[in-house]
Amino acid sequence: MRAQPPASHYIDGAPVEDTAGEPIDVIYPYTGEVIARVHAATPAVLDRALDAARRAQADWAARAPVERGRVLRRAAELMRARNRALSELETLDTGKPLQETLVADATSGADALEYFGGAAATVTGHTIPLGGGDFAYTLREPLGVCAGIGAWNYPTQIACWKAAPALAFGNAMVFKPSELTPLSALRVAELLTEAGLPPGLFNVVQGAGAVGAALVGDARVDKVSLTGSVDTGRRVYAAAAEGIRHVTMELGGKSPLIVFDDASVDDAVGAAMLGNFYSAGQVCSNGTRVFVQRGLEARFLERLTERSRAILLGDPLDEATQMGPLISAGQRDRVTGYIRAGLDEGARLVCGGDHGGRNDGFFVAPTVFADVHDDMIIAREEIFGPVMCVLGFDDEAEVLARANASPFGLAAGVFTRDLSRAHRVVAGLEAGTCWINSYNLTPVEMPFGGVKASGVGRENGPAALEHYTRLKTVHVGMGGVDAPY
Ligand code: NDP
Repeated sequence: MRAQPPASHYIDGAPVEDTAGEPIDVIYPYTGEVIARVHAATPAVLDRALDAARRAQADWAARAPVERGRVLRRAAELMRARNRALSELETLDTGKPLQETLVADATSGADALEYFGGAAATVTGHTIPLGGGDFAYTLREPLGVCAGIGAWNYPTQIACWKAAPALAFGNAMVFKPSELTPLSALRVAELLTEAGLPPGLFNVVQGAGAVGAALVGDARVDKVSLTGSVDTGRRVYAAAAEGIRHVTMELGGKSPLIVFDDASVDDAVGAAMLGNFYSAGQVCSNGTRVFVQRGLEARFLERLTERSRAILLGDPLDEATQMGPLISAGQRDRVTGYIRAGLDEGARLVCGGDHGGRNDGFFVAPTVFADVHDDMIIAREEIFGPVMCVLGFDDEAEVLARANASPFGLAAGVFTRDLSRAHRVVAGLEAGTCWINSYNLTPVEMPFGGVKASGVGRENGPAALEHYTRLKTVHVGMGGVDAPY
């Protein structure tokens, strides 16, 4: 098999196999070919991983922060040097075109390792004067063992966005990738070991939801960071609450992208396409509700249709290919089910809606619906495929209210040349991450995360520190103790 890893799991600095676990066939979404087989973690494997993490963490936390950071920065360099091989693996694992994986997956993982490698040594506390010579100071301590649970759309990036801050600030991690994409996290683990990460600090265990649930409920776990759907988020958050564990929840969305009629049409169309068709639409922060002011709607749709029809679907390993298949037959069927629902509810199909003439993978063509109403299923539910809904609007107050009328709050975008309006609208949007005249860019320097049902906590940027450390406050009495008895 062309992508078979040395073993299913990676524990205590080495590959670990246990074929007693349920077999998981890894399928290349373009050909349907089985490219690897791994086994789900048995309770014994989970035990080993959690014990290794517990054992290794205290030592790691005691090291000089600058030394921890150096390991991560070395890993970032290795990752960049191996970008092509890692990208090819990511393409096989996910079906995303190489054109994308070469610039958005291992490279983004490397950015996180480099950023948090640099941030490791910048952590400090505060001194708080209290009068009479007394004072308090604060310490930022690691949480301990973190469980990372990933979705299938950005396997390398998700593993690194969680592992990099966790490790930089002195934690250990046990990471469970999606059962659909188990391969890249194993490479990340090997690479961290090669960069000098001591054994036990980054472990990978395979399996479906049950393995994730076992991790979340284990007393050895201090924090859970999940990237997944809102439904899974609810279950994981509730299970973590049982043990009063820290959580970061990066969940789904149905984000609005608002285009005012003074915007550059080409930029707005380009952003809407990036925010709906990149990774075949399997991106959590996608701006799937594209609100276009009436004066611009016809021109916007015309340009959008023209450019969407020109998107090249095909072999993901061919660098000319612009859009690959969806992750699985199940996801393709889910997405085509939504397209049928859109048609049934009377939305106007402007382009796409089928398999783009391809029968060789789980393809769905770039699809645009116009005349979409807020109450249609396609405007309310996360589709997680290349399906864009265009909705007309008249004025600012109206569009703001409609944009916010969603249980989700992951992201939002505004296109306008009027910058006062842009900032005013952004201030009113109920979303964790907003873009003005850009969309879906998520550099590591910038905190990323959602509000409302889209999540809790933030990844990346300085904000990640708060989610991978806890605060200790120390009161120091400098005088005598004044007791009333
Ligand atoms: P799922 O919610 O189905 O799964 C996410 C992960 O959780 C998987 O590893 C899954 O295992 C695991 N899991 C499932 N049930 C449980 C449980 N009870 N306890 C612990 N772990 C569990 O999401 P998808 O993989 O389908 O990914 C798509 C979703 O992820 C979309 O909603 C998308 O919006 C969201 N997402 C959010 C991002 C963000 O940063 N906000 C980024 C990317 C995606 P398995 O799948 O192996 O069964």
